[in-house]
Amino acid sequence: MSETFTAMMLEDVDGKPKAGFRQISRSDLPDHDVLVEISHSSLNYKDGLAVSGKGRIARRLPMVAGIDLAGTVVESRSAAWKPGDKVIVNGWGLSETEWGGYARFQRLKPEWLTRLPDAFSMEQAMAIGTAGYTAALCVNALEDWGTIQPGKGEVLVTGAAGGVGSTAVSLLSAKGYTVVASTGRAETHDYLRGLGASSFLDRAELAGDVRPLQKERWSGAVDSVGSTTLANVLAQTVYGGAVAACGLAGGADLPGTVMPHILRSVALIGVDSVHAPQARRDRAWQTLADHLDREKLAAMTEVHKMSELPDLAGKILAGAVRGRIVIEIA
Ligand code: NDP
Repeated sequence: MSETFTAMMLEDVDGKPKAGFRQISRSDLPDHDVLVEISHSSLNYKDGLAVSGKGRIARRLPMVAGIDLAGTVVESRSAAWKPGDKVIVNGWGLSETEWGGYARFQRLKPEWLTRLPDAFSMEQAMAIGTAGYTAALCVNALEDWGTIQPGKGEVLVTGAAGGVGSTAVSLLSAKGYTVVASTGRAETHDYLRGLGASSFLDRAELAGDVRPLQKERWSGAVDSVGSTTLANVLAQTVYGGAVAACGLAGGADLPGTVMPHILRSVALIGVDSVHAPQARRDRAWQTLADHLDREKLAAMTEVHKMSELPDLAGKILAGAVRGRIVIEIA
């Protein structure tokens, strides 16, 4: 098939990955078993790092960027999938070691595909995307730990106005938890209140010196910021509580002590979405199907064209994106 289509490619320029739009054809795609025609992708923080060239996300080049995709199976050499099946892919090394979702067609391994939940359109599934599905993994992890209870205590969400944060606020409030939103953007308070936040904490209050044990406040927390923020959140978590940590928007370091863990039995639960097993993914998508309010999802979503990716990448790294960005694949 010689028809060409546009892809956002990362290529080696003077030893560094550089992003640009390229025309490719189906014969350029990797030789995996399932060909998918992509209708939507999304923009995550990691996509911002890849497209801007500010982070080394791709581990081989050339690489089609985009860690998420939603589309329809066109051809399949796997018995598990047939033409017409509607599917999503989140992670699995897309944009890192495997070609990703910023292209009209992609060939993928059958085991990377998740059936599009009946509850969502492709656009809605990408409005959730890796960020939203990771928020659901975090909420499930906290509930499995067992110390957060609806109507009792406060659950903190850091980076609240971002993609992970917005979805976490919506999910937790829909499940009846009292949600405190930590944000550096006071102008997002009305938006976050609309998603279900009951009060706010300026992110600067979590960015200062880390005293090992502070006043116990959070029965649980979802953290997408890392660094001093995470260390302070751990030091403010109640006896036996847990923090689900998934991100590093504020830094990859963790300048704390073991005190919250050894004196208050506070748990730090690491959450990875990229290689999460299929059963955990299915459960996270079920949590989203059951509890994510569709009007709130619409309120946190903007839809953009693929041509806008370079600008949008700069915006998400600057912390200037509110909620989630869906990318329409032309
Ligand atoms: P967004 O950019 O949408 O959200 C990040 C938010 O973090 C911002 O909106 C901002 O929130 C806050 N923030 C940004 N910079 C800083 C800073 N310097 N100090 C403190 N807070 C800051 O990104 P995503 O929601 O897509 O991703 C968030 C993080 O989670 C990223 O690090 C990403 O890589 C990670 N992630 C990890 C996954 C995993 O599998 N473990 C999966 C998905 C995401 P506000 O304006 O409200 O203060």
